[in-house]
Amino acid sequence: MKLPFFLARKFVAGEDFDHALPRIQELNDKNIQVTLDKLGENVDNKSMASESAETYRILLDKIDEAGLDSTISVKLTMMGLDIDDELCRDNLFKVLDKAQKTNNFVRIDMEGSDYTQATIDIFKQAYKKYGKHVGIVLQAYLHRTKEDVRDLADMGADVRLCKGAYSEPERIALQNMNAIRDAFKEYAEVLLEKTSYPRIATHDDELIKWTLDYTDRNNIGPSRFEFQMLYGLRQTTMEDLTEDGYNSRIYVPYGTMWFPYFKRRLMERKENIWFILTTMFQR
Ligand SMILES: Cc1cc2nc3c(=O)[nH]c(=O)nc-3n(C[C@H](O)[C@H](O)[C@H](O)COP(=O)(O)OP(=O)(O)OC[C@H]3O[C@@H](n4cnc5c(N)ncnc54)[C@H](O)[C@@H]3O)c2cc1C
Repeated sequence: MKLPFFLARKFVAGEDFDHALPRIQELNDKNIQVTLDKLGENVDNKSMASESAETYRILLDKIDEAGLDSTISVKLTMMGLDIDDELCRDNLFKVLDKAQKTNNFVRIDMEGSDYTQATIDIFKQAYKKYGKHVGIVLQAYLHRTKEDVRDLADMGADVRLCKGAYSEPERIALQNMNAIRDAFKEYAEVLLEKTSYPRIATHDDELIKWTLDYTDRNNIGPSRFEFQMLYGLRQTTMEDLTEDGYNSRIYVPYGTMWFPYFKRRLMERKENIWFILTTMFQR
């Protein structure tokens, strides 16, 4: 059974690009940059994987034609990671060819821990060939991020740091929020010191405040990093940060395959469930 879209519209900008477009333009008009994500994950046949790559190539053209200030995010499982690493890499490279041509940028989202190593391996190959046109995500809750962050920072990789959104066991990931926050701060410090433009992706006041204080104390100017948040969450905070001179970017998902993304947002925060319930009863 497919749930009706109105339930998801707080978190998802539309079921297609044309419906998402006014939302993107509104954000750009407020000097907030965008990262577009055409939702979807885990395809299990080759033609769907290459179709996903083609969809992203078309999206890059649409961004270019509409003159939007927007990059894109992709999930490697949508481009065939469950089928074959090489197939997935080839599909990603097709998207990156287009990003290079349109002078744009592709962020590889980080998925569940079964995919972490393969995602980093494919990112490294992509980085060698496409440099500034590709970036990756690290999840502060994973134990392995302690090593990954140094490795990727030494390469000069463009990293989005987030807490991590998947349910992972204790042997793989920290479970306690304070420990995750401490790890986030430790890794943000590495990225701020060693890379040219880290992306701090969180809605957490403690981490936002820590970033503001840390960069201020260490003379790291606002042009050296950016804050990232998800569409539908804390937009006023983002607007305030932008007005204060900080670079900001909102991750804007759209598409018909919104359910897994929507479910992660609900699991993350009980207030989000409450919001959806009130939306249902308001109709
Ligand atoms: C741009 C972006 C990209 C992401 N990409 C990935 C990815 O590739 N892979 C991945 O695994 N995860 C990704 N995530 C999700 C991320 O890992 C977290 O699951 C998600 O951001 C929740 O953690 P948080 O730090 O934002 O705040 P939470 O841990 O949800 O909340 C912590 C505290 O922040 C405050 N807060 C949070 N939300 C709100 C709100 N709406 N209003 C008021 N206060 C609030 C509250 O005080 C709350 O107690 C991404 C997140 C962002 C922002």
